[in-house]
Amino acid sequence: MDRPDDNAASFDRARDALRGRFVELDASASKLLHLMLANGTGCDAIITSDKCEIHFARHPSRHHYFLSPTPAVLTSLIRFAGAVTPVTSIRARIGPASVPAHSPAGAKIPASFMFPAWSFPAHRLWLDWNHQEIRVSLRDDEHQDGPVPSALPQPIRPSTPSMIQHAAPVACPHCGQAALEHRDAHDGWLVCSTCARSFQS
Ligand SMILES: [Zn+2]
Repeated sequence: MDRPDDNAASFDRARDALRGRFVELDASASKLLHLMLANGTGCDAIITSDKCEIHFARHPSRHHYFLSPTPAVLTSLIRFAGAVTPVTSIRARIGPASVPAHSPAGAKIPASFMFPAWSFPAHRLWLDWNHQEIRVSLRDDEHQDGPVPSALPQPIRPSTPSMIQHAAPVACPHCGQAALEHRDAHDGWLVCSTCARSFQS
């Protein structure tokens, strides 16, 4: 992770972006913005002086990211929302829109580390901040009408685990226990109900 003083400086720059001192996207910021907007399920993000924590609907745990891309991510969200700086709070619709390919910050990094162009569907955006934290909530907006509610959306909760049924028993590669069904973690991973470890189907 970033050093604590780097985190504090990134958080200062993130708050400065909300005041209108914009920071342009680079490859790492585009990647973080892509995680927040392109997965189709929305997310809840909390940015403070020591963490950037994002909760996605597709996974129960909170994910932690470097703080350094957050000023550019917030700049992009302000621009997509057409919000006027200094921003105190945003309730807006953003997208659908596209983000061009971006190269990494720093000239020494090979161009193969470019983050490619991507696009995202319409979302609703809630953004609030104070001196301690910046909160961003994004939700899919595909079938929504009317103004974005001023109240924050319900926090994202993990969906109830879905089970995958097998035609024949499948053995856990860790403990050897065979079962006719396994909990579906995500991205093709199954969870063994005996030893609780996950494996790829
Ligand atoms: Zn097992």
